Amino acid sequence: MNKSELQQQDREHLLHPFTDFHELGEQGTRVITGAEGVYITDIDGHKMLDGMSGLWCCNLGYSRREISDAIYEQLNTLPFYNSFFQCTTVPSIELADALAAVAPAHMNNVFFTGSGSEANDTNLRIIRRYWDLMERPEKRIVISRKNAYHGSTIGGASLGGMSGMHKQFQALDYIEHIQQPYWFGEGGDMSPEEFGVYAARCLDEKIQELGPENVAAFIAEPIQGAGGVIIPPETYWPEVKKVLDQYGDILLVMDEVIFGFGRTGEWFGADYYGMQPDLMTFAKAVTNGYFPLGGTMVGDRVAEVIKAKGGEFTHGYTYSAHPAACKAGLATINILRNEKIIENVRENTAPYLAKRWAELADHPIVGEARSLGLVGALELVKDKSSRARFDDKCTAGGVCRDLSIKNGLVMRATGDTMIIAPPLILTKEQVDELVEKARRALDDTAKALA
Ligand SMILES: *Cc1c(COP(=O)(O)O)cnc(C)c1O
Repeated sequence: MNKSELQQQDREHLLHPFTDFHELGEQGTRVITGAEGVYITDIDGHKMLDGMSGLWCCNLGYSRREISDAIYEQLNTLPFYNSFFQCTTVPSIELADALAAVAPAHMNNVFFTGSGSEANDTNLRIIRRYWDLMERPEKRIVISRKNAYHGSTIGGASLGGMSGMHKQFQALDYIEHIQQPYWFGEGGDMSPEEFGVYAARCLDEKIQELGPENVAAFIAEPIQGAGGVIIPPETYWPEVKKVLDQYGDILLVMDEVIFGFGRTGEWFGADYYGMQPDLMTFAKAVTNGYFPLGGTMVGDRVAEVIKAKGGEFTHGYTYSAHPAACKAGLATINILRNEKIIENVRENTAPYLAKRWAELADHPIVGEARSLGLVGALELVKDKSSRARFDDKCTAGGVCRDLSIKNGLVMRATGDTMIIAPPLILTKEQVDELVEKARRALDDTAKALA
């Protein structure tokens, strides 16, 4: 089939995630056909530096035979067996052990799922089970943040705080959303430090309003990813810690689906921010995107209760601990460890990206250029001092994304915020290439919007 035939069949039969079906029908899809290292190629032979690691998952790029071989070998040995009914498989035991070794010291148990969304649903089930076993059944409410992304099952989407999503489904009624720590967009006249404290105090305010005896947990991404790479001010997480410590009986869930496995230059965002979550969601990069797998790491204080008290935990998925997925996870963790990928991000690539990315702040349409580890964001504005956008509908972001892809760099647009999360194996030369291509996209966008 040629490109237009493929696009026609796609239009006729395939409903894509988070897509305006009507608009897609008119434009036709971009058909990606190959990938190597940190580059992807489309059906026209157009090669692009993948500044988004697929969808935040291919942290080791696209050419790791160790991972695909591990999956293949497992499929030829034991392609599937479940973990229900007192059964287990060797890869699932090995991966649970490996995860306990790389997770924060107090997290020694894992529940496997097929995705990040399912893992957040699992968190809701574990939280409820925990408080029931603790004989505190009134602790039911989970606090999350506006503009958070926690997946798209009903549980995940209810935890998430994206208004566009909430308009299209009926959310669970025991989830509350508070201020996000988005200084550039919502900090007004406060300094970033003041705003970080303010946003964290909003958690305390909400707990007081609901009554601490009713609050079961607080869930947050270490840095909001899909929301626009919202790096909280440095004061935010220490203040959240103070708030939670003051109560002592509100669980902390950190959703590490994007920041787990090295993106900050530490294994997990919790390590980077010195937090001790009770539950930690992971997915995406755990298998380098090669096989669907997610899960939640369970901290000792919760694990001890749910393991010590009798009675079945009535939750699980057919593909929980799928052996081939677990092999993919093991191969990924081995590469991260053996090749010191995360140390290299921390010591070399992240500081270099920080320096080069910050240079983009001098561009006339950039209101802020921020980065941390191997993520970055650019805020597109018409007026730097007032932070005014080009229009209410935030169309500049889409324009910039399309021009960037045309120039050979995959950037993503969240409204008028351009975001990158390149593979962790990016070299310094590739950082230069990324920044130069991003600048060209900005130049072209400024011209197109003038
Ligand atoms: C992608 C993502 C999810 C959902 O993961 P899926 O595998 O798509 O279900 C949950 N939380 C965060 C922070 C994510 O980025």
